[in-house]
Amino acid sequence: MSILIALDDGHGINTPTKRTPFISSIGRTIKENEFNREVVRRLNNLLKTCGFHTLLVAPEDKDIPLSIRTNRANRAGADAYISIHYNAYDGQFSGDNPSGIELYVYPGHLNKDAGRLAHSIGGYLKQGTKQHYRGVKEADFHVLRETSMIAVLTESGFMDHPKEALLMREPMFQNEVAVEHAKGICDFFNIPFKASSKRPWYVGRRVESIYEGELRFYSQPSWDSQAVAGYVQKGYGFPRIVDRVMVEGHNQYKVENSKGLPFYITASETYVKVT
Ligand SMILES: [Zn+2]
Repeated sequence: MSILIALDDGHGINTPTKRTPFISSIGRTIKENEFNREVVRRLNNLLKTCGFHTLLVAPEDKDIPLSIRTNRANRAGADAYISIHYNAYDGQFSGDNPSGIELYVYPGHLNKDAGRLAHSIGGYLKQGTKQHYRGVKEADFHVLRETSMIAVLTESGFMDHPKEALLMREPMFQNEVAVEHAKGICDFFNIPFKASSKRPWYVGRRVESIYEGELRFYSQPSWDSQAVAGYVQKGYGFPRIVDRVMVEGHNQYKVENSKGLPFYITASETYVKVT
């Protein structure tokens, strides 16, 4: 088997306008490519683990013109082209804020292979983090029109939707999106999905507070003030993450202190960083 998947991270890191509005809670904007490139990096690893060959059509930091991206895939004879994006509506958090997942294929391809691949990926994308599923649509985008293979463009959320903007830099969301793309691609090509046997990226690493103030940690997986075991200041934390658990829809890290005692602390990137 030799199936070649071309992976496109959408834009350069500094491509103008391809970013969220200013987010006051984190003091900056998030660039679209921060999300796209992380998903491509993870998806690339996942696909290789499953036995695919891959081609990164724009591994450079600067913005590679769309024609070069598609030429690279065409020249390599890729079997499918996957373009990873994050959507934008009006570039503002004020006013209407549509949200959710969309996938695109070239007009007329909804009932062809590209449409089947898009539905396969979309079927997994809608299973993860609860988001509005906007479906598979048609659009005359360069990367869909100028590619000589099956091509799908995905938008895994909206940069100008306040909640979805913050999701962009959550490693667990990036990873989930990559896994969902990989599963959809595997199903389409009839390849069993194999998760990498590597342990999760955060296990064994240090977590510390980036919160200005006192950050709660808990004696059990709970957000209840009854379960608060103590507080950490900014720059302080725990030397070892042992697991990540979902507590009422939000993740906590199960951690150990220097004596090996277990505690729980938020896994939100707004409050903590893993080092
Ligand atoms: Zn984009």
